[in-house]
Amino acid sequence: MPIDLDNEDDKLTVKAAMPGIQPENFEKNSLTRNPIKGAKDIMPASQTLSIERGLRRYDTVTKEQLETLSKFSGSQNPVLSLYLGVQLSENRKDKLRTKLNQLIHEQGLALRGESKEKQRAVKAHIDKVMKWFETEYDETGRGVAIFSSNHNGLWQTFRLPLAVRDQLVISDRPYVRPLMMLTDESAHYLVLLLDKQTARLFIVYLDEIQEYDEFKDEFVPKPKSGPGDSVDKIQRHYEAIVLSHVKHAIQVVERYWQRESYDGIIVGGTENPLAQLHDHLPKAFRERLVGEIAVPVNAPLDQVLRAVATIDEANARRVEEERVNALFTAALGKGPAVIGLTNTLRALVEGHVMTLIVEEDFQQPGFECSNCHFMIDTHKIRCPLCGAILEAQVDIVDRAMGRALAQNAKVEIVRGPMRQKLAEKGHIGALSRYNRDLNQEKKNEFKTE
Ligand SMILES: [Zn+2]
Repeated sequence: MPIDLDNEDDKLTVKAAMPGIQPENFEKNSLTRNPIKGAKDIMPASQTLSIERGLRRYDTVTKEQLETLSKFSGSQNPVLSLYLGVQLSENRKDKLRTKLNQLIHEQGLALRGESKEKQRAVKAHIDKVMKWFETEYDETGRGVAIFSSNHNGLWQTFRLPLAVRDQLVISDRPYVRPLMMLTDESAHYLVLLLDKQTARLFIVYLDEIQEYDEFKDEFVPKPKSGPGDSVDKIQRHYEAIVLSHVKHAIQVVERYWQRESYDGIIVGGTENPLAQLHDHLPKAFRERLVGEIAVPVNAPLDQVLRAVATIDEANARRVEEERVNALFTAALGKGPAVIGLTNTLRALVEGHVMTLIVEEDFQQPGFECSNCHFMIDTHKIRCPLCGAILEAQVDIVDRAMGRALAQNAKVEIVRGPMRQKLAEKGHIGALSRYNRDLNQEKKNEFKTE
């Protein structure tokens, strides 16, 4: 009987084992490339074991959401951005209220000189946030991010799987950098653990792990086995069953991969089926494989999570190193890249950045045109492109990152050993889509006033 991979039942579903198995079903289900003689007899019985899928305890932050927030402007209306760490503790709600009140108190002091109208608007948003914590927040996640503005009714909440530094920012646009920092390395992995009979599938995102599927392909005795069967024949029988199980697991992973977008697949479990897995991986699967963990199939969730974190860390550092090296090679060899804030901002204004590479925590004030989005890191009154008055920005690097996302560029925040090297060369750079010598080009085009 074919395994119903789409079965979403949370209940224990035990598939009917062998009886009445039809050859056509077998063909569909078994992926054995060269079925051994008598293959029809070795279809393993398959069970989908009970899985507690449950509700997600955090919200994933998508690139689209970050992009929308980065583009958002309050158009004269204040925009509230709140980040709050919500560590599990006793009296969690009371502690949250205390922290919030502290932030609000500080904000109140900061807003003293502002118009009554603005102060009223900010108070309304704070009330809304308070109400959300009281009535809607389900106490999940380790951090919370909230954005609120009257303009276009902006109201967005995220329960984050990692803690964040407490911050309440009132500005003319959402403050998205902490969210961007958090999601920069937020690889979303599918993890498959395998032994000869069982397969478990997990999803790991940041510090969260959830088990998504588990099934067992049972060994079934060879029906016509008799005293005449050689040890060799029985051995082949079991090997074929393991292979069928491995292929079943590959199918399930494929199915999950199609459903949601993941950044990679990690496998682990027992040596023998893993070797078979590697032998039978389709090419596309192989390309998605980011690592292997030495974890038994029955490992508790936290052990799986720790092993994945090690792979993830190594993977993130490797990507950082590759990107920073690519940046240096291209920039120094007059390739399609720029280094340094001034050149990088210009590349973003011209709109040909493919990957923006930023040292973690690098901040710099600057100016931005609210009309045409021209950006510059030196003082200038009017926009050289459209003539509008430029707006001062506390952190032009934050704006540059938002702009890169809006242009569909990747943003790489460098935190590992490459960080120092990048700092020495100018803290920020970009790999560009065009092959032009951007560092030398039109150096005086945007002379400061
Ligand atoms: Zn302009």
